[in-house]
Amino acid sequence: MVDVQRDFCPGGALAVKDGDTVVPRLNRVVGAFTRASLPIFFTRDWHPGNHVSFKDHGGTWPPHCVKGTRGAGFHPKLRVPRGTVVVSKGTQAGSEAYSGFQGTDLEKRLKEAGVREVFLGGLATDYCVKETALDALDAGFKVKVLEDCVRGVDLHADDSELALREVVARGAGLVTSSDAVRLVTSVKKPSSRPKRPILR
Ligand SMILES: [Zn+2]
Repeated sequence: MVDVQRDFCPGGALAVKDGDTVVPRLNRVVGAFTRASLPIFFTRDWHPGNHVSFKDHGGTWPPHCVKGTRGAGFHPKLRVPRGTVVVSKGTQAGSEAYSGFQGTDLEKRLKEAGVREVFLGGLATDYCVKETALDALDAGFKVKVLEDCVRGVDLHADDSELALREVVARGAGLVTSSDAVRLVTSVKKPSSRPKRPILR
């Protein structure tokens, strides 16, 4: 899950149009992953107040997702199950990080969790989702973008469409949240040890 934070949702400091509409669908995917005991990773923008991406500091964007503020919190309706790994990015004043892999240990943690394929959704399609997907591909993961679980900034009208086209051209697949839920639900849980009767 990429950056499903208050500031990227309607009413937030850098609101993505209809950004909050991804939440119920993502919740269904999170629920399916939880039931299948599959690892879940959430990224978040977690900026210092003088971050280089902010207009006053030479960047493109209004201040957003300043660490510890309300706007940096996950959308209140987003399901964040226990055991979810939260990866903060853009934490250094001088460096921007659209990708969840940039300047973080996300790749290492995914690999340690035995992940080979990543299902990815969140905000915003044309920036953080795109860059995270591309870095995941570069790191050797299979990538499926949840096409109904992403929304874009679209500074230019077709930015999101171009972003999805680019990640597909680089080898990612597009699936719907329903596809993902079906797929994950049909996967047999890896059982680490044979089942034994509980002795009392
Ligand atoms: Zn940011």
